[in-house]
Amino acid sequence: METFKNALIFLLNEIINELYPKQCIICGKLYSDEICSKCYKTLEIVAKSQKNKNKSFNEHIYLFKYGGTIRKLIIDYKFNDKAYLSDFFTKIIIKNEKICRKIKSYDIIIPVPIHKKRKNERGYNQSELIAKKIAKNTNQLQLVTDSLIKQKNTVAQSTLTKEQRKQNVKQVYKIANKQKIQNKKIILLDDIYTTGSTVEECSKILKQNGAKEILVLTIAKDEIN
Ligand SMILES: [Zn+2]
Repeated sequence: METFKNALIFLLNEIINELYPKQCIICGKLYSDEICSKCYKTLEIVAKSQKNKNKSFNEHIYLFKYGGTIRKLIIDYKFNDKAYLSDFFTKIIIKNEKICRKIKSYDIIIPVPIHKKRKNERGYNQSELIAKKIAKNTNQLQLVTDSLIKQKNTVAQSTLTKEQRKQNVKQVYKIANKQKIQNKKIILLDDIYTTGSTVEECSKILKQNGAKEILVLTIAKDEIN
């Protein structure tokens, strides 16, 4: 029943979003886009790329430093039923030239999975909605959601210390449909990069199962840790 209710809320939000004139998601002013030009200018897009030889993924690129307006939008998106914000995040990603150039050389996009139970509670996987829209807007990227699976429901990473986070994600993911990732150049999408434990664990299992290259793409990076 709960699953059905959440699915319905999600669907209604999508319909309302299509029917009504858009409002700027930051200042609320009616506008032709998700964000008005004035608020757009206040966003500090960094689109920073980092390569780290000690990680299982080859590169990490993020759009924003986690904080201020972006922090508020991500929290709203994940926890306050604002699934429609996926349009905004997708646009920011695909409008960025640096990221677009990179995306072009990859084969598939995989959103970091959430557990079935959490997905039912929330009604959607926040990373999956964005990955789906990126795949739709860039013709050659294929969305794969049935290969990297979260098999255990874990405590939210945000509540744990760095060391606890590492332990919390161990043995949590598994691979199905191995052929879909073998020899593939993969974009792994997540919302926030904090200690990197989640994307590291996902990348490790993807590489162990034959993934060729992995680019981790996140909306934000939390630099506290
Ligand atoms: Zn505005």
